[in-house]
Amino acid sequence: MRPSVRDIYRETCYVYATRAEEIARKEGHKRLARLASNENPFPLSTNARAEAVRALDEVHRYPPEYHTRLTELLVEKFSWNPVVVGNGMDGIIETVIRTLIEPGDKVVISEPTFSFYRVAAAAQGGDVISVRREKDFSVDVPEFIHSCRQAKLAFLCTPNNPTGNLTSREDVKKILDSTDSLLFLDNAYIEFADTDYCDLMKEYDHLVIGRTMSKVYSMAGMRLGYAFVPTWLEPCYHRASTPFAVNRVTAAAAVGALTDLDHVRRIREHAIRWRARFKDEVKFRTFPSQANFILIDTAPHKGNAMMEQLARKGVLVRSCDSFPGLGDHYIRVNIGEDWENELFLQEINAV
Ligand SMILES: *Cc1c(COP(=O)(O)O)cnc(C)c1O
Repeated sequence: MRPSVRDIYRETCYVYATRAEEIARKEGHKRLARLASNENPFPLSTNARAEAVRALDEVHRYPPEYHTRLTELLVEKFSWNPVVVGNGMDGIIETVIRTLIEPGDKVVISEPTFSFYRVAAAAQGGDVISVRREKDFSVDVPEFIHSCRQAKLAFLCTPNNPTGNLTSREDVKKILDSTDSLLFLDNAYIEFADTDYCDLMKEYDHLVIGRTMSKVYSMAGMRLGYAFVPTWLEPCYHRASTPFAVNRVTAAAAVGALTDLDHVRRIREHAIRWRARFKDEVKFRTFPSQANFILIDTAPHKGNAMMEQLARKGVLVRSCDSFPGLGDHYIRVNIGEDWENELFLQEINAV
């Protein structure tokens, strides 16, 4: 008899945005507008590429236990020590959960939000407490605080995926002031926003701030995340982490990418310019975004139907159907290259 698989893995978990691509391919489209996964449409900076190629010389050796060149650069850039790095921010989320959560421990999230917190918490046997966001997708702060009081760990995504809105520093401070549970602030899109939370690390020792190289730094395919962690957490984090979680090539590329300020500035300006145009020109209701994507209410059309219809035109967007706590009539569209954005505007307004 086959060994039985854990119940949580009998059903689908993280939902990949692959359906749109299948539809577009079937229609015969060769050139696709890829606006479904919040990636950066622009390639890796030349700096980063050169560093990555150089690192190939040593890939027959295991990477170092600590990527000191990378972590020292991050410490210098953000004035916080310690910093940990992982296999994408997803890898860090998974490791932080593994460091703290035992079966039955509670993990708070504020939905609709990024779906991996739920998946990763469940994998560790954690019980997820879901706090519903308000109608405008702001966090219900009193309810969030109330839930945190029963929990060990809470995740707050700001700017939030898939809604694009920010939680104010004041609200984050209010949460931190009212609870002892560890707050993981997911800042995957912070480079596109006009707020920063870094300095809060100095005030609170139950705060983790997670960041990624996948979005503004054009490194989604290389998998690198980093996080500012409180001093007490660092050694435990390393014990819980997979050995050699970050490879040499990725770590080297990240050093190059982090020092290419011009790349970041250009991408940021491009995203800010286009999200304003999406807001002004899309004929459906849009929500204010501080990220490189925008949430659109496509009612009376269902999100899935809209995703399929656009895919048939060669435009890939994300139906938000799979995000708990959101209705079935939303899509999420990221900023692509000019031609991708133009094509998207043309096709969505033709619906
Ligand atoms: C993209 C994303 C991440 C994951 O980033 P990786 O570093 O690619 O694993 C984490 N959180 C949110 C909200 C994201 O959108």
